[in-house]
This record gives sequence, C-alpha cells and structure tokens, in this order.
Amino acid sequence: MKLGIDNMEHYRRFIEDVLVGNLVLGGKCKNDCKYCDLKATMGAIGIENYTNLISMENVKDVISFLGIINRTGQISVGEGNHFLSCEPLMHPKYLDIVKLVRKKFPNRKIVTLTTGELIKPGWYETLKQLNIRFIVSVNTMDQKEKSELMRTKTPVEHVIDFLEKCEFIIDTLSFVYFGKLKSLERDIKFIHELHPNYKNKTFRIILADYSVHHDLEAKELHDFAKKTWHEANYLMHELHPNFEAYIRNFDDYPELPPKVHYKRIFFNSMRMALETIQQYRLDPSDVGFLFPESSYSYAVRELNFLKDNAILVKNITFAGSYQASGLMTMKDIRHALNETKKKFKYYIAPYDLGMLYKKDLAGEYIDENIIMI
Ligand code: SF4
Repeated sequence: MKLGIDNMEHYRRFIEDVLVGNLVLGGKCKNDCKYCDLKATMGAIGIENYTNLISMENVKDVISFLGIINRTGQISVGEGNHFLSCEPLMHPKYLDIVKLVRKKFPNRKIVTLTTGELIKPGWYETLKQLNIRFIVSVNTMDQKEKSELMRTKTPVEHVIDFLEKCEFIIDTLSFVYFGKLKSLERDIKFIHELHPNYKNKTFRIILADYSVHHDLEAKELHDFAKKTWHEANYLMHELHPNFEAYIRNFDDYPELPPKVHYKRIFFNSMRMALETIQQYRLDPSDVGFLFPESSYSYAVRELNFLKDNAILVKNITFAGSYQASGLMTMKDIRHALNETKKKFKYYIAPYDLGMLYKKDLAGEYIDENIIMI
C-alpha cells in the first residue's frame, strides 16, 4: 500500500484526529473478523474507514500539534475516530513512528490497540524502553477459533509470546465474546498462568455485535453469544473481577453482578447530567435526557424521577444489535424526537455523541440545544 495521505479530505480528517491525540497510521486490516465494525460504518454512513499508510513526512508535519486539544493528554498511535484500522503493527515504520512520538512527548501515555499478531520479538526490548502501553484484542487463544472468528492465519503463538514476554507494557486485554463460556474460562485461566501480574490487569469482554450491513453470520454469532452473555459476566466476576463489560441492554440482564463497569459509568454520567442542570440553573422540566437503547429502561427503572424527561433513542442508523451511546447519530435523535410527544428546550446526551468537534459519526453537527456530558 502507498505511503503518505494523498487525498485532501482524508488529510483534513487525519488532522482532526491528530489534534485530539490520535495519530492514525492508516492502512487496511488484513483480517476479516465476522463482527468487524468497519462493515457497519461503511454501509450505514458511507465513511471510508481506510486511508493510505501515513508517511514519516506526515508524522513530522503534524507532531507538534498531536493531542493539543486532548483532555486526557493520552496519545493513541494506530486508529482514530475517523479511520479505524485496528492493526497498527502492520505499518512498516511503526517502531520509527513511536520512537519519534516518544522523543517529542517523553512523559505522555502512548497507547496502541492491536491484535498482537504482528509484533516482532526483536521489537520487545525497544517497546519496553519506549514504554508504549498496549491494549491487546486477544479474543481467543485457540487457533481454530481464531481462524473462524477473525479469519486470520497468523499463529496464535505470536500473541502468546508477546503476552508472556511483554506483560510489563500491556495494560488491557479484550475478548469479543462469541458465546463459548468454556473457551472464555480456558483463556482467562491460561493468561493468568502466563504471568501472575495479569490477575491485576483490566480485562474487557465485548458481546459480538452486528448491524444490518453485516452478513448473516454476524447476526448468528451475536444471537448465539447473547444466550450466555449473562453467564459470561458472572464467570468474569468470579475469575477476574477487574473486568469491563459493555452491556447492551440492562433489561436483558437485570441481575448483573453489582460491580459491573458499565453501571459505574452510567451512574457517573447521570450524576454529571444532574450537576450540569444545577450548574446552568436550568429548570429540570425544560431538560430531556436522550438515552440509547442500552440504558433507557434501566434509567427509567432506577431513576424513577427521570421517567417524564427520558427519551429513547433507537439506533436506526446502524440498526442490528448496536445500542451503545457512542453510535448514536443526529439522524437517530431526530427520529426519536419525531416519534415522541415529549418536547424540551434543552437535551442532555452522552459525551460520546459529539466527541469529535461536536459532530456525530456521520460528520453531522450536533444541534445547539443538545448538551453533551
Ligand atoms: S482486526 Fe479489527 S479492523 Fe481487522 S477485521 Fe478484525 S475487527 Fe476489523
């Protein structure tokens, strides 16, 4: 693939990502995961998710602006909000690029999300010295399952070697849950055995999702996985309490273990929403709360006083099983407001909606009367 972005629109989007701290490396992932989100976004909002692999000149041109308006100070090397590629390690200059970024920002947290398949053992020591923090999409430690799920031929031993020898720089392991409880249990125990420190690291389980733009097997995968998702949460609670679960809908799982990560996020954002109302001295009856499907009924159930102000925003853009706030679009909101009789002066929506320059995923500006918290 050609090095260097040569499309002006891509370059504009590359810069938007750079300013918030995402150095997109470009390229096209060689895997073909059944559940890959890229298929959904390309189908639903026509966004091209791939750009050329960036060149060293591209990096040098923008490095002074990297993360200049980032709230956390963290730098991500790999994917961004505009371009998801998911496999930064395929960039032939990955190591040179992270060296450059580390030199410029000696104290910042630099993160790369990877499948771990392409990391070369010869890079291990350098990566440790550079203190690059990794989130590894492990998914499964079984070769046959991996080939079926991710359609990759890379030997799983590559990932195992990386996990074993680079534990020090790995912060998070993530697993797309595809419905096999025994496999999940096997993998968690296996990783705990690889290095004792893994017991204290964050593990993430994500239910395999689908949109109407995926082929049928993605839906079948989701339907199968959903059947035991509840049990998978309990299993993780038992084996690895430091886990994050991206619950799709609380109604399906009313008795989740009490410390589920999503619940904490939900209550924190509700607290922030209520503080925002106070801070701006808004009349609460003027404010509507826009909830994605994942949390609407839970919000109404747990925070009864919200029921008259809560508005359900269904994901009609991607449809399928995507229900999370990060995938909410203005199109979904307009549709929801047309469907309801509830009208308000202001609306409160999740921060994820307009994370990038107050635009949704499709690039549409968020309406002025929507406050994102
Ligand atoms: S590794 Fe990531 S980007 Fe590549 S196909 Fe799988 S989900 Fe998609």
